[in-house]
Amino acid sequence: VARDPDCVFCKIIAGEIPAAGVAESDLAIAFMDIGPIAEGHTLVIPRDHYETVMDMPPEVVADVYGLAARVARAIKASMGCEGLNVLQNNGACAGQVVGHVHVHVIPRDSGDGIAWPWPSTEAEPDRLASLAERIKSGMNEA
Ligand code: AMP
Ligand code: ZN
Repeated sequence: VARDPDCVFCKIIAGEIPAAGVAESDLAIAFMDIGPIAEGHTLVIPRDHYETVMDMPPEVVADVYGLAARVARAIKASMGCEGLNVLQNNGACAGQVVGHVHVHVIPRDSGDGIAWPWPSTEAEPDRLASLAERIKSGMNEA
């Protein structure tokens, strides 16, 4: 899993493609997103190639999200944004374009015009209970 020769983010890690670096940790690096949703949009990725959050061992998840939280604090302090979105897409159906797991850290301000479609519905408690049971059964394999 260490490296995928066709992966653009592995090439950034190897220094073969330029990127504007922001920070590093033992297992992760942070750099500016080339197609920012907002000024300051930064990506945090593991140094090793994993496709999704499900593929990373817990210590890598901890390191990647630890760096993402540090970067979020740094963006807030230096850019003066009101808040941030920290989010991450898994699978093409969920909007993942680059197949090397990455955490988006996006500065937000009220009235910035950014909106995610978030079509909330209302669930029956019985339905939630049965879905919780179903997911619990999946925890055995997770
Ligand atoms: P996702 O849709 O979650 O896979 O997001 C992929 C992100 O990677 C997008 O926001 C792109 O703008 C960004 N991206 C793609 N190629 C590069 C690159 N060479 N350097 C920096 N960011 C990139
Ligand atoms: Zn990669």
